[in-house]
Amino acid sequence: MRQAEMNLENLTILPSRMILRRNADNFSTLFLGNDVRYKLNNFATDILKYLILKLSEDFKITLCEMSSELNQPINSVATFIEELEKLGILGFNFKPIMPPQGLGKRIRCVDNKSPISLEWLITGCCDSNCCYCIYDKYRMENGKELSTSEALSLVREIADSGVINVTLSGGEPLLRKDIVEIIRAFYEFGINIRLDTNGINLTKRLLDNLLSFQDTLKISISIDSLDPETNDKIRGFVGCTSRVIQNIAKIKDYGIYTNISTVLTKLNANIPTMIKLCNFLVDIKVEEWTIAFVRPFGKGWDNWESIGLFAEDVPELTFKLMDLSKEINRPRINFIANPASLEQLVQDNNFNFQFLRICEDCQGEGFLSVKPTGDIHTCLFLPNHLTKVGNVREASVIDLWNKAKRTFPLEHLSFSSMAEKCLSCPYLVFCKGGCRANALQTQGSLNECDILTRDRIEIAKLWLSNGRPEIKNLSNI
Ligand code: SF4
Ligand code: SF4
Ligand code: SF4
Repeated sequence: MRQAEMNLENLTILPSRMILRRNADNFSTLFLGNDVRYKLNNFATDILKYLILKLSEDFKITLCEMSSELNQPINSVATFIEELEKLGILGFNFKPIMPPQGLGKRIRCVDNKSPISLEWLITGCCDSNCCYCIYDKYRMENGKELSTSEALSLVREIADSGVINVTLSGGEPLLRKDIVEIIRAFYEFGINIRLDTNGINLTKRLLDNLLSFQDTLKISISIDSLDPETNDKIRGFVGCTSRVIQNIAKIKDYGIYTNISTVLTKLNANIPTMIKLCNFLVDIKVEEWTIAFVRPFGKGWDNWESIGLFAEDVPELTFKLMDLSKEINRPRINFIANPASLEQLVQDNNFNFQFLRICEDCQGEGFLSVKPTGDIHTCLFLPNHLTKVGNVREASVIDLWNKAKRTFPLEHLSFSSMAEKCLSCPYLVFCKGGCRANALQTQGSLNECDILTRDRIEIAKLWLSNGRPEIKNLSNI
């Protein structure tokens, strides 16, 4: 649309969920749905804030008014509005979809003092018995899980604290009878939800209920092989595989955004198994496929002898998956390394290697975990005395978050003060010290190298140089 034709009287915000997170310097990040985020400079932030404010009160704004109130040239304002239109954030020339009072649910503005993401292990109960379950220990923990009313007040506190993305995991979250009620409560606050499930209990009735939360909901289902014998064995549930396969297809019929989560162990890490799974996911048009190597925690650590492996142990498969992640658009493959970024690495040696991280906490964006009994942690894999902040029954989420920042600055995890050997390591710029929990678990010290992350960098470099598959031996666990 050309500027002269722009009729702001008919401007509206399209019905996608958005969260504008303002930073202290007035730059901001705009979160759209579960995955898309845009960085906005202070000029764009001002315009968007103005639009949100104005559109909440009154749909009549003119370009001239905007330009003079914001003290910005009219052309710049118009160009930015056009960009928002192209991104599907604003629309013109049709009747507003949402009444002004509904906008609060579509758009939230939060400040940068809040955590961005939170994982809530909503129950310790599970009907599977996976050989690599990292949450296994939580089933043994004493204490009463949060009741429905406690859970619903926690949802409000999480929303009040400004959290943008929540992962509901467990245990198996669908075993909570109030799960739909909890997801609805998050939906009302416009919070993006990822529901991590083993996929066994996804009934039609449940999907009918979840359908109305589609615009903020992503369902993530675990499957490690299409072969029932292999997958049933890994998941410790005889007969689960056929049910899960049917349920994945069912979700796709509903059109709900789906991620498939696959853990590579000695039991399934081979090319035929992964290609068969990949073909299935392509056929049914799953949006995302996340593939990770087994982590050395919980039962994964107990069973390491029989299931544990590194990327270097299966170089051909690793290379194959990296190739696929470059070739296939749907599903988008989230594997250990993002090839586009790796190419960037090679080109200018200046790219973001954060995908080598296991989780979001150490990226400094703000991450908290809530256990089934309401304990809040800054990391689920380091010992409790380094990470437990308190319990939501005793303090609010925002107070616990502020305490976490004061008491657990995660100095042992941060880029600036990592292990001595990291500071002189040639991989530091990519690895940023890896995962300290991995280092502690596998090497017995927070100050040692995280050999799992180092292994991925080695293998990624080999893949880039096409130097496959002569892999040198790294340290053994
Ligand atoms: S489904 Fe998840 S919580 Fe349950 S046993 Fe498997 S990994 Fe653990
Ligand atoms: S964790 Fe290992 S690979 Fe990473 S920076 Fe430290 S020493 Fe280097
Ligand atoms: S130490 Fe590892 S597991 Fe813990 S928050 Fe950091 S990257 Fe995640």
